[in-house]
Amino acid sequence: MPENTSSAALTPCAQHPLNFFFPIEARSGQPTAGERAALRVCATCPIADRRECLERELRLPAYRQYGVVGCTTASQRRSIIRSRKAASKAEVA
Ligand code: SF4
Repeated sequence: MPENTSSAALTPCAQHPLNFFFPIEARSGQPTAGERAALRVCATCPIADRRECLERELRLPAYRQYGVVGCTTASQRRSIIRSRKAASKAEVA
């Protein structure tokens, strides 16, 4: 979700109730119907906002990932975080 700025009010997620972006999460595999609906709204966000939004969310640890943000589900972001950590460890080794 965008930070509380005047541009945040222009994002597609600002036009929906907050719980729309926190649907029941898929336990594994494909996103739930609620997640897919939120992903469709996210997909209409301007590219720059979407990337910025995703990277901001990825600064949080995996256990704090909830809801659909930056065109990803929480499960997808946890996976990105794991991949980045693994890549970072491989670079150090
Ligand atoms: S990418 Fe999605 S969650 Fe992020 S600001 Fe845009 S609509 Fe909102």
